[in-house]
Amino acid sequence: MPQDIVLLTALIMLAINSAGLGLSLWVAGSESATSTGQPLTSRATLLERLPLIGFNLATLLLLSLGSLHFLEGIFDWGAPAWFIAGAQLLWVSLVDDTIFYFYHRWLHLNRAVYRAIHRIHHKAHAPVPIEYIYVHPFEWMGGSAGPFLGFASLYALTGHLNAWVFLAYTAYRTIHELSIHGGRRSRIGERIWWYGTPRHHGFHHSRPHDGNYAATYIFWDRFLNTEVGGETSSPSPITSEPQSG
Ligand SMILES: [Zn+2]
Repeated sequence: MPQDIVLLTALIMLAINSAGLGLSLWVAGSESATSTGQPLTSRATLLERLPLIGFNLATLLLLSLGSLHFLEGIFDWGAPAWFIAGAQLLWVSLVDDTIFYFYHRWLHLNRAVYRAIHRIHHKAHAPVPIEYIYVHPFEWMGGSAGPFLGFASLYALTGHLNAWVFLAYTAYRTIHELSIHGGRRSRIGERIWWYGTPRHHGFHHSRPHDGNYAATYIFWDRFLNTEVGGETSSPSPITSEPQSG
C-alpha cells in the first residue's frame, strides 16, 4: 500500500461518500419506518439537492487534500500499538465532538446565523445518509475546526501524528455522519448511553430547535439539558421556524 497520505485520504473519502450516495439514492423515498416517524427525503428532492452536495464534497476534497499536501511531512507511518491508537482516536473524537456540540448549538440559538446558514441542512426533516453534507458551504468549513483542532492538539501533546490514526479517524467520521443521517434505528448504538445514534440525530431533524446538538458523545446533551426524544417520548410535529430577532 502506498504511504501517501493525500492519495489514501482521497481514496477513503471517495469510496465512503460514493457508497453513501448510492445507498441514499436507493433508500430515498422508501416506505420504511424511520426512527422518528417522519417520511424520508424523496428521491426527487434528493436529486434537486445533489448539486449543493456535489459542490460541498468537491470543495471539501480539494481543501482537505491541498492542506494534506503541505502537511504530509509531519505524518509518521509506523504501526502504533492498539491502545495508543485507541487513546489517540478517543482524544481527537472528544475534541472534535465537543467543539461540534457548541458550534451546532450556536448555529441554532443565533437565529440570524440559523436563517443564513444552518436552515439549509434542516430542510431535511428525515434525511438520507448523504444529506449529512447538504449544508451551506460555510457550515462544513466552520465544522472543520473540530477535527483540525483535535489533530493539532494531539500533535502539540505527543509531538507527532500517525498516518494510520488520521486515516482511521477520517473513515470513522465520514461513516458516522452518514450513519446518523440514515434514519434507521441502531439497536447496538442505542445500548451505549453516551453514543450518538441515528435515532438521537433523527429527533434533532424532526424537532430542530429543541436539542440533541451532539453528534457522537450525547453526554453533552445530557449534562447541559438539551436532550430530546428519550425512549419513552414520542416525536412532536416539526418545530416551526424560529421567531425573528
Ligand atoms: Zn441542527
